[in-house]
Amino acid sequence: MGKKIVVLHSGGLDSTVMWRLAKEDIRNEVIAVYFDIGHDYAWKEKAQLPPGAHIHDMTWFKAEGKGKAGNAMNNIFIPGRNMMFATIAACKYLPDEIWMGALMGEIHDQATDKNLEYLHRQNDILSYVLSPFGKVKVVFPFVERQWGKLQVTRWACQNGMQQEILASSSCMSGEAGNCGRCGVCLRRAGIFPQLNMEESYNVDPWTAPENRKLIHDLIVAEINQDDSHYDRFRREEIIPTLIRNHSGKSLQEILELYTDGATQAKEEVLQETPQESGPNQTEMNQDQTSTSTHNPDAPPQVTHVV
Ligand SMILES: [Zn+2]
Repeated sequence: MGKKIVVLHSGGLDSTVMWRLAKEDIRNEVIAVYFDIGHDYAWKEKAQLPPGAHIHDMTWFKAEGKGKAGNAMNNIFIPGRNMMFATIAACKYLPDEIWMGALMGEIHDQATDKNLEYLHRQNDILSYVLSPFGKVKVVFPFVERQWGKLQVTRWACQNGMQQEILASSSCMSGEAGNCGRCGVCLRRAGIFPQLNMEESYNVDPWTAPENRKLIHDLIVAEINQDDSHYDRFRREEIIPTLIRNHSGKSLQEILELYTDGATQAKEEVLQETPQESGPNQTEMNQDQTSTSTHNPDAPPQVTHVV
């Protein structure tokens, strides 16, 4: 017997693959649900939703006066966003399963609305509250398969989804196309060449000042094999392409290209900023916290070979 599955869809790469996976069993009834919270890039996401997707206007729902510095969503912030969306979807649709695109590499302790502790607690409360109506549970299909973004994209390529992947919108900027300056654009720029795909960016993600700190930190984590913040799932998205772009250079030498006054200044700023303790949001993780402090004087020192 098929299942009734709600896919929490963002129009992005992961959601596009999740949608396909949910429909692999043709007996399943699959509903794509999108929540529009009024962010700048919602128009790009909505353009990539599957036909018949249910779009819910949540623009009234943003938390008052709360914003994460440097977050590409600016002042739009919903504490516990995934919990809210999963709960709304559970109560509205009473499906068998709600699929959420949590990825290996992102389900760390601070991601309190998309880690395994959250999953356990969410399903605990749903199974109690909705017990008169049936059994609804939240599922992390990618985590069940032990997939990070690279594995998701690889599976998509192996299943003929290249065009859909390239059409998907993951960029966190309101401008047309792929900005090249956000953390998600950088991740795609790291993953796609590994799978013989390429897409264009408005700015080269490897030299964009906004991405230098993230690249720097990923290299440091790789050199130290430090999984505490960027585990192997996050590093393998970026490092192989970075090394390919700098053939002949050691990782230490590449690190020096990303270590400069701008990077160090950002580190100092970050250290002075009080630690954020609020829950993270899907694809809004720490990658974005430094993006507003870019130094326009930082010279692009890196040549990029696609
Ligand atoms: Zn972008």
